[in-house]
Amino acid sequence: MYQSCNSVETEEEQCSEPPGILAVAQPGYRPKSPPSKPKASSNWNDWKWQIKNRIRTFDQLVSFLPGLAGKTELQQVIQKYPMAVTPYYASLIQRPDISDPVFMMSVPQTEELFNPVCLSEDPLEEHKDMPVPGMVHRYQDRALVIATTTCSCYCRHCTRKRIAGTRECSISVHRLQQITEYLLAHPEISDVIVSGGDPLTMSTDSLEAVLSALRSIPTVQIIRIGTRVPVVLPMRITDELVEMLRRYHPIWINTHFNHPNELTEESMQACAKLADAGIPLGNQSVLLKGINDSPQIIERLCRGLIRNRVRPYYLYQCDLVRGVEHFRTPLSKGIEIMEYMRGRVSGMAIPTFVVDAPHGGGKIPILPNYVISMSPTNTVIRNYEGMMVNYPEPGGIGQQAAEGRELPNPGVWELASGRASIIQPSNTSRGQRRRRLVEKQKTASGFECGSLFDA
Ligand SMILES: *Cc1c(COP(=O)(O)O)cnc(C)c1O
Ligand code: SF4
Repeated sequence: MYQSCNSVETEEEQCSEPPGILAVAQPGYRPKSPPSKPKASSNWNDWKWQIKNRIRTFDQLVSFLPGLAGKTELQQVIQKYPMAVTPYYASLIQRPDISDPVFMMSVPQTEELFNPVCLSEDPLEEHKDMPVPGMVHRYQDRALVIATTTCSCYCRHCTRKRIAGTRECSISVHRLQQITEYLLAHPEISDVIVSGGDPLTMSTDSLEAVLSALRSIPTVQIIRIGTRVPVVLPMRITDELVEMLRRYHPIWINTHFNHPNELTEESMQACAKLADAGIPLGNQSVLLKGINDSPQIIERLCRGLIRNRVRPYYLYQCDLVRGVEHFRTPLSKGIEIMEYMRGRVSGMAIPTFVVDAPHGGGKIPILPNYVISMSPTNTVIRNYEGMMVNYPEPGGIGQQAAEGRELPNPGVWELASGRASIIQPSNTSRGQRRRRLVEKQKTASGFECGSLFDA
């Protein structure tokens, strides 16, 4: 049984059903007064104040963004897929229209009611992989726990739209007990992901109950928390929270930045606090049309992340979830972005582009083609510049190059059969740099390994 959310003092909300079978939206509490204008309150840095003052109703939305007054259809959208925007996240909206990434990710649009047949409520079929309601066991060694259905902001592109915010409640003691028993019976599970909803919206005590239950299982080696709180509610990363988290190491946190506009002073400070507590940080972005479906935006985002000790982990293709059709990009867009990144940007800043397979097949990485051709003796691969080289297989014939007998004007077959070792584009910037260096070395006296460290 799910109990009402005890993290914040709100109106009581009775929750009797586990997530996964909640289909109809049941918006939670409504604050009595409209949210304050950004930064108008001295409580701005109090995360509970931020949660209590979220924009939740159409009227509150209109009082914040008067331009939407005529869009009464949005009420239907909010009924089906709850809305919540923290005043902090709302303050990151620079233009109140769909040209603004933060607006797009947080303000409902009528397109959410559009339902092409290829979309479903639960395309990853998580409900079929739930041995205990609220726990997804898909991979041999990992399991995912839905610790709460509450988020501080409801992302319009959420992959668990069927669960997130439909009721705002957290895992019960009883359910946690069942999950613990399952994990004890399945010692092969060594990595548990605490997800939701957003687990960092829970009270520190409730979250600690989950973490200590998981830590009591000797076979659970790492605990990961999936959270968008550093992005949408960074003031939640309090000293008290961080002190609690570090008692349950090894803890890893994966957060969810999608756009460089989300990298604010506050969010960077939140990440720094977590990193200082020894928590390795990863980031899982979703590729979203009109928001971040551009190589340059992803580059800026990923460079910003590593500067803040957050390692880009996954770039997700948008799932086939009902209500997100307007955010979907073709798979080719992700491949284009990966093509752009490799070679240009630090490998530390390059996430893995993945499709979470429909029917619950799990994550499948998608890359540009780097393998050009093969024979039993040689494999031909290319780099980001278009240079092609053969990689001689063990025991294969790749001697020609070594012996300086490269064929003139080789084609791909000459590489694949070991008759040549390289096809080089003529004018790359790397090539120019090399040529300049060779010239310099010709005029300088002997440049050898021995002189490497000479003054
Ligand atoms: C994504 C996911 C995981 C974790 O996968 P990694 O590739 O290890 O990050 C585990 N379980 C479920 C159900 C997931 O969706
Ligand atoms: S924070 Fe995560 S679970 Fe919550 S709405 Fe956003 S994507 Fe969904």
